[in-house]
Amino acid sequence: AAFESLSSRLQNVFSKLRGKGKVSEEDVSEAMREVRLALLEADVNFKVVKDFIAKVKERAIGLDVSKSFTPGMVVIDIVNKELTELMGGTQSKLAKANKPPTVIMMAGLQGAGKTTTTGKLAKLLQKSNNRPLLIACDIYRPAAIKQLQVLGEQINAPVFSLGDQTSPVEIARAGLQHAKENGNDYVIIDTAGRLHIDEELMEELKQIHQVTKPDEVLLVVDAMTGQDAVNVAQSFHEQLALTGVVLTKLDGDTRGGAALSVKAVTGCPIKFAAMGEKIDSLEPFHPERMASRILGMGDMLSLIEKAQMNIDADKAKEMERKMRTAEFTFDDFLEQMEQVRNLGPLDQIMDMLPGMNKMKGMKDMKVDEKQIGRVEAIVRSMTKEEKQKPELLNHSRRKRVAAGSGTTIVEVNRLIKQFDDMKKMMKQFSSMMGPKGPKGGKK
Ligand code: GDP
Repeated sequence: AAFESLSSRLQNVFSKLRGKGKVSEEDVSEAMREVRLALLEADVNFKVVKDFIAKVKERAIGLDVSKSFTPGMVVIDIVNKELTELMGGTQSKLAKANKPPTVIMMAGLQGAGKTTTTGKLAKLLQKSNNRPLLIACDIYRPAAIKQLQVLGEQINAPVFSLGDQTSPVEIARAGLQHAKENGNDYVIIDTAGRLHIDEELMEELKQIHQVTKPDEVLLVVDAMTGQDAVNVAQSFHEQLALTGVVLTKLDGDTRGGAALSVKAVTGCPIKFAAMGEKIDSLEPFHPERMASRILGMGDMLSLIEKAQMNIDADKAKEMERKMRTAEFTFDDFLEQMEQVRNLGPLDQIMDMLPGMNKMKGMKDMKVDEKQIGRVEAIVRSMTKEEKQKPELLNHSRRKRVAAGSGTTIVEVNRLIKQFDDMKKMMKQFSSMMGPKGPKGGKK
C-alpha cells in the first residue's frame, strides 16, 4: 500500500526511542538522521526534507525532549505535527462561487487520471446534493469524450459535449452557458492532457481559463510518479495559477514523495486524494489524518466517516472508545470485522487502523476474503467466556476450536497471537493518545 515503506521505517525509528527510559540529545539526533533518510528514500524533495528536519529539531530542543518522561512520544508528536504542517496543516476545502455555477477546471498530464477524477468529483458533489455538469473539452485523446459520457451515465450526471470538431475554448464557453440555463450549481471542465507539458497545451488551458474564469483550477497528478509529479505541478502552477492539487493512485505503492512535497514546493494545497479506480474512491485530503496514518497512529476519523453510511455511528464510537481503552474482546473483533467488510477494499481499511500496517501477520488476511471467513469461523467456535477472556484458551480448548471451525490449530494459534498483538498495539496507541485524544490533534 501507499507509504508502506516510509511508514514502517518511521515507526521503527520511533519504537527504538520509545523503548528507552531516557533519551539523550544524541538519541534524538540519531533518530532525526534516520527520519531524514526515510524521507529522502520516500522521494521527498531534498530541500523539503532539510527544512523539515530543521523544524523538528528546533521544536525538540525547545521542548527539551530529553527531560520528558515519555521522550519517544514527544518526538512522535512533534514529527506528527510537522508532517501535518508540511501537507498544508488543515484541510483545504473546495471554493464556492458567490453566484452559481462554481466553475472547476481540471488540468493534468495524460494518464494522470483527469477524466476519471472529473467523474469522481461530480459524484462527491452529488453526495452533498449538488447538480454538477461535466464539460468535455478533451477533443484530442480519442476516447476521452466517450469516457466522460460513460462516467456521467454511471452517476447520472449530465455531460456537455460538442464533439471533437469544435475548439475546446468554444465548448467550455457553451458548456458554461448551458449550465446557467439549466440550473447546474457546479461545472467541471475536463481538459486535454499531453504526455509532456508543451506550449500549445498551456495556451489552450489559459484560453479556457480566460473564458470561464474558474473558481478552482485543480491539477490532477499521479502520486506514483513521485518527484516528477511535483515538477509537473510546479510548471503548471507557474502558468496557470492553480488553486489545488488532486493526488491520484494513492492506492498503489507510491513511496509518498509527491504527497509530502507538493504543498511545500508549489504552495498549492492538496484538496483531494484518489485511492482507486472506482467512482467513489475520491476523498477530501486531510493533512492531519494522513500524517497519523503515515506514523501508524491509524486514521480512525476517516474510517469512522467512511463507515457512517454502512455502520451505526454509535457502534463506531463505542468501537473507537474500546480501541482507545484497549478493552477489546474477540466479540468486538468479530463485530468489527463484519462491519469492516461492508466498507470497501480491506487493505485500505487495514491501513486506517492503528498499528495494522506494522503487523506483518495481518497482511495475509488483507486482501483474502476467504481468509476472513476462516477467521470468523474460528471466533464463532469459541465459547462466550473464551471470547471475553482469550487467556482461557489453553491447548485443549484451542484444539476444540480448530475442530469446530474446520480449521487447524496452527491457524487458531496464529489468530490468537494476532489478537494479542493487536491489543498490545492498542494499549500503546491509547497511552499515546491520552484520554482525550492526541494533544492538539483531532478536532
Ligand atoms: P487522463 O488521461 O488524465 O484523463 O487519465 P484517465 O482518467 O483516463 O486515467 C488513466 C488511468 O488511471 C485509468 O486506467 C484510470 O482507471 C486510472 N486511475 C485514475 N485514478 C486512479 C486511482 O486513484 N487509482 C488507480 N489505481 N487508478 C486510477
